[in-house]
Amino acid sequence: MNRKSITKTTLVALTLSTALAFTGAYATEGSHWDYNDANLTGPSYWGDLSHDYHMCKDGYEQSPIDISSAKDKKIGELKFSYSGTPLSIVNNGHTLQVNYAAGSKLRIGRDVYDLLQFHFHTPSEHTVNGAAAPMEVHFVHVNKAGQLAVVGVMMDFGRANKTLDKILHHAPHEVATVTVDGESVNGRSLMPGREDEAEKFFNYAGSLTTPPCSEGVRWFVLKKRITVSHEQVEEFSHFVHGANARPVQPLNDRTISANDD
Ligand SMILES: [Zn+2]
Repeated sequence: MNRKSITKTTLVALTLSTALAFTGAYATEGSHWDYNDANLTGPSYWGDLSHDYHMCKDGYEQSPIDISSAKDKKIGELKFSYSGTPLSIVNNGHTLQVNYAAGSKLRIGRDVYDLLQFHFHTPSEHTVNGAAAPMEVHFVHVNKAGQLAVVGVMMDFGRANKTLDKILHHAPHEVATVTVDGESVNGRSLMPGREDEAEKFFNYAGSLTTPPCSEGVRWFVLKKRITVSHEQVEEFSHFVHGANARPVQPLNDRTISANDD
């Protein structure tokens, strides 16, 4: 390769990365990863794909986990004050995510968190006594200090969920973000009924379940579940090429708390 062609290649590369940076969705994407170990880019390899992902293999408090034994503990109630949000769906190649407009909150004791987004996994990432559910939805919140609190809701087979139907109907099949004019959703409709508000949950200290697997995440997995139909799980699985669940990680010396009685 002569000098001229090297320069040209460099220019093309720079232009491309600049263009990608401005599309937003790709800006923080980092190295490619997926859920398929056969591609050498699945969960067993995440920690080796980029130095930025090293916590995926070096972390000691990783998520998800199997929830089998929990210690009763007084933990503040979860108080959800979510409002509806204009429907904006991101297909980021790993999941379908609904972005939330500012103003919806989760209060845990004195801590106040803002709801940023919710997204789905199939099968569920957390397991209870070794058993996965067909799907799990994660509500991602952040407080003023930048700390994350994620609420997981297990989804069992049963009646179809109307909100999930709306999301599946409008979701882009390629990597893209769509905002649907005139449609809105409320995350509360993907949680157990209002009478179960501040109901029982499991709580533990964990991480993001996707690269970079950052720790310091407060996890709350609700004991009560919602339902989805077989057709909905099937339809969602097409968006994620079959499955998008990280396997459960070692508990190590963590304790799982439950706010029973
Ligand atoms: Zn998740």
